Amino acid sequence: MNAIKRVLIVGSGIGGATAAFALRRIGVDVHCIDIKPEAPITGSGICMLHNAMRALTGLGLAEPCLDSGYRFDKFRQFNSAGELLVTNPAPPSCGIRRPELAGILESAAEGAGAVIDRGLTVENLVNREDGVDVRFSDGREATYDLVVAADGVYSKIRGQVFGTDCSPRFAGQSVWRFNAPRPAEIDAFCLYRTPTGHTVGSFPTSQESCYIFYLENSKEPLRIPEGEAHHLIRERLMEYTAPAIRDSLERVTDAKQVIFRPLDITLVPAPWHRNRVILLGDAAHAPTPHMTSGGGMAIEDAVVLAESIAATTTAKAALEMYSNRRFERCKTICDASLQLCRNEQEDALGNRERSARLLLQTYQYLGRPL
Ligand SMILES: Cc1cc2nc3c(=O)[nH]c(=O)nc-3n(C[C@H](O)[C@H](O)[C@H](O)COP(=O)(O)OP(=O)(O)OC[C@H]3O[C@@H](n4cnc5c(N)ncnc54)[C@H](O)[C@@H]3O)c2cc1C
Repeated sequence: MNAIKRVLIVGSGIGGATAAFALRRIGVDVHCIDIKPEAPITGSGICMLHNAMRALTGLGLAEPCLDSGYRFDKFRQFNSAGELLVTNPAPPSCGIRRPELAGILESAAEGAGAVIDRGLTVENLVNREDGVDVRFSDGREATYDLVVAADGVYSKIRGQVFGTDCSPRFAGQSVWRFNAPRPAEIDAFCLYRTPTGHTVGSFPTSQESCYIFYLENSKEPLRIPEGEAHHLIRERLMEYTAPAIRDSLERVTDAKQVIFRPLDITLVPAPWHRNRVILLGDAAHAPTPHMTSGGGMAIEDAVVLAESIAATTTAKAALEMYSNRRFERCKTICDASLQLCRNEQEDALGNRERSARLLLQTYQYLGRPL
């Protein structure tokens, strides 16, 4: 019999919604809240790598992702004029639009009996040895066996319970992202490289759509004037004459189409619990996106948390098992992602071979059993 019967999950993002579903499958009573009043309807794309797809397959959720997204297993490199330089094998992955993925995960969780309350957050919590007393922002109060902080890289619960030592820090790059109709050549993970060491990346997110990103170095986090992002991204991508990039850029006519974000990272040392509050996903480990793995790690966390609760008879044993099984793997991904990020900042051209080797090696590592 599970020692943990009633769980509050704070945050219904990739990690929280997956955890809600995985915990319902082992019979846990799940209440999930999210501060945002609505489920996401806009957003960029995300690449679910082989390990994420394996975890989703185990949950029975890979198929809807593949139906809605785009399966690919190649890695193509082009020059900035759009000439194909090389095609290599890539781990079997699924590109998908983020709102679609969110819809699949949340519907699965609700279908399995999880209660998801939107527009709600935690006002106060008392984290006791055998449970957590929570007061919500709407004044309601409840007690849970476990609170899962899945509230992302800027996690408020982490700050309250673990202190501020692990507050996110800027990794020296920012990312510009926008969605576009998918040109035929974007049927894989594609990188367009300039001779000066700049790279634009893209991958399909459905049969009809793709997602384009550009990483920019800066010592301090960049601040973008409101309403200007569409002009600024065009300026930055001037040297790309590849039709796939040019045509996509022409459709970016409003700053709201561009998602700009400084890359903030964190890795909380194990264990990831204090009494009955536990961290999951970006709240515990937010890598830079260079390994396209943060979401996959959050999904794996959810699977391992449910397995740990199902395999143990005390809450202490379950929470220890969860951190023990997750920490090294997440650290490996955070370290590799940050190394790739640094390689680009230090000498993007000179480090290309090194980065390719590290990427390949870490993909192989991700293929190991959980
Ligand atoms: C540019 C970029 C590209 C990326 N590309 C990929 C990729 O291709 N593949 C991949 O696997 N990963 C990728 N990632 C990483 C991935 O997006 C994250 O790792 C993933 O979203 C983490 O999921 P999460 O559920 O932990 O957090 P989030 O997805 O951030 O969800 C947190 C949720 O908590 C809610 N919340 C926040 N605060 C509160 C609060 N106080 N109370 C209640 N709710 C709250 C939020 O509204 C949100 O819904 C990328 C990241 C970036 C920045």
